[in-house]
Amino acid sequence: MELKKRKQTYEPITDIKSKKIPGKEHPYSNYISWAFMKQLREHHDTRKVYDVNPYVEVFQFEKNFYGLFTHNIDGAGDVWMYLIVGPEKAMLIDTAYGLGDLDGLVREITGNMPYIVVNTHTGPDHVLGNFRFDTVYCHEYEVWSVRNKCSKDCFDYLFDENGNCKWIHFDKKDLPEYRDYELIGVPDGHIFNLGEDYDVELIWTAGHAAGHAMYLDKKNRILISGDDLISATNGVGNGPRPGDPYGKYSTIEAYHNQMRKLAFRNDEYDYIYGGHFAVGLESNVIIDIVETAAKILEDPQNYDFKKERKRAQGTVTICCKYVPNFTVISYNPEKGVYMEQAQKIVEEYTRNKK
Ligand SMILES: [Zn+2]
Repeated sequence: MELKKRKQTYEPITDIKSKKIPGKEHPYSNYISWAFMKQLREHHDTRKVYDVNPYVEVFQFEKNFYGLFTHNIDGAGDVWMYLIVGPEKAMLIDTAYGLGDLDGLVREITGNMPYIVVNTHTGPDHVLGNFRFDTVYCHEYEVWSVRNKCSKDCFDYLFDENGNCKWIHFDKKDLPEYRDYELIGVPDGHIFNLGEDYDVELIWTAGHAAGHAMYLDKKNRILISGDDLISATNGVGNGPRPGDPYGKYSTIEAYHNQMRKLAFRNDEYDYIYGGHFAVGLESNVIIDIVETAAKILEDPQNYDFKKERKRAQGTVTICCKYVPNFTVISYNPEKGVYMEQAQKIVEEYTRNKK
């Protein structure tokens, strides 16, 4: 008899406006994260849903540091945005899908402070809320990709031919409207000052996206890591996105180079807050990641398991290697391991386009 897994249908929260459609979610989580999120959402005593935006669960993790949790409306892993409140300015990290009045929520939490908006990387679940803002910052290698994603039809894939949302019930009117906004690319190491000596540094980490960035809140000693640690399903070495001029950095090699530098700075941060799932990870996980990435570079065929994933270009094989005590690093062995290999694909794409 074949063993059959049950769907992870658990959704205890009823005071938010979005509702999961049972059986439609992709359970992009491991067992530990799943348990963590259940405890957090049911029992964390700072959890609050503000009237101004009923799509977001707000958690106050530090005195001036908030996690803003919202459903991923395309059924993938639910998303964390973060808000740091400095002495004179605040900073919103990622914008999810921008469901509901995100600006109003930030204003209410901060007491109407001016604030900076930044992205960790391109993913619909991290950047489509950018339409709600006039100016957004990201790493300079990610500008092409964010612009490409924030297109006129970027929300279309969420709906079936009858106009119903495929994965989550929400009010279509609460999505932001497409509009132009200013997107500013900044280099690795760029400092955002939030007043006085409160600095947040953009740290370029490559990998999951060519211009993937983390943000180091130096006062709180917190690293906001986007999707570059939570790689179990979404891939660190995906290889170049078609047309991305910086595609060679979507590789394990580029990721390893950058993460190694970050590991040498581990006296600057204590806890890590990612774009999905369990948060407050301890900093040593970075060292385990660097060592695992090094092993992949030595021999990409020495993976632990592989799986097939459906992409627009067809089915691709993704290899996965376990990170001790954590999840996996996943990569496309054909185009997502070495920079030279990926650069050839970038050039080929440019040639074919001419
Ligand atoms: Zn994500």
